[in-house]
Amino acid sequence: MQFSEAFLKRHLVFDGGFGTMLLAAGLPAGASPDQWNITNPDQVRAVHAAYLAAGADVVTTNTFGSTAPRQKRGAYRPADLAAAGVRLAKQAVAASGRSAYVALDVGPLGEFLEPLGDLTEDEALSYFRESIEAGVSEGVDCILIETMGALDEALVCIRAAKSFGGGLPVLCTMTYDANGHIMTSEPIETVVAALEEAGVDALGCNCGVGPEQLVSLLPRFRACAHRPLLMQPNAGLPEYRDGQTVYLVGPKAYAEQMRLLAAGGVWGVGGCCGTTPEHISRLAALVRAEA
Ligand SMILES: [Zn+2]
Repeated sequence: MQFSEAFLKRHLVFDGGFGTMLLAAGLPAGASPDQWNITNPDQVRAVHAAYLAAGADVVTTNTFGSTAPRQKRGAYRPADLAAAGVRLAKQAVAASGRSAYVALDVGPLGEFLEPLGDLTEDEALSYFRESIEAGVSEGVDCILIETMGALDEALVCIRAAKSFGGGLPVLCTMTYDANGHIMTSEPIETVVAALEEAGVDALGCNCGVGPEQLVSLLPRFRACAHRPLLMQPNAGLPEYRDGQTVYLVGPKAYAEQMRLLAAGGVWGVGGCCGTTPEHISRLAALVRAEA
């Protein structure tokens, strides 16, 4: 089952929020979710299993933070966390009896590149390389670079994925605000052109906003993008209740907005913060009914 075949499908359903699911399973606030790939594998597999049961065609590995800058104080090597994360996702797919793709998740390093920060491009490249090589060596179907807010970092990560990712498809979603700007201030049009120039196979948006905001931004993506679009918004804009960040768009309303994205030509649909297997289940049902 080559991932390149998935690009021929009208829609592909990705999974939803992972960190929020692990918090619900007992991950202490502030702890690295990636470390659970080694210390609490059953809970990580259970999240994958829930998304597979919900109908996700793609499971994303629990490796968002499996890079050296994010594991400075951790007890495990980033490469070991990445490799373990891939094994768990593959085990969950095998146990589900379903056929599904495994996407190697790569998140931002959590530090700025020069001149905004201290990180050199070479350092960033080697950090990404370490986790990508380890993950790919366990056998994944594609590399999903996500929640990128800085364009320079995203481009270095894409370079690492294309150079050291074994020729696998590279997908990249950036985090935009409701006005269509990323953290380093570039608008959709500039970002899309740069990512396509860098050779991504699919691109789009994750985190940051909810599906409603992406419905508004979709015409701008459609006007400039030549690659399949992937949208994994949060369950709405973040709200603050009793000192906690919460996402309040429920599965039904979420799926209805996501249907507008799918009908508008978005290829990959899934979720980010605050989305649950219930959100993905509703989404999968609506998308399949239309296919
Ligand atoms: Zn998110």
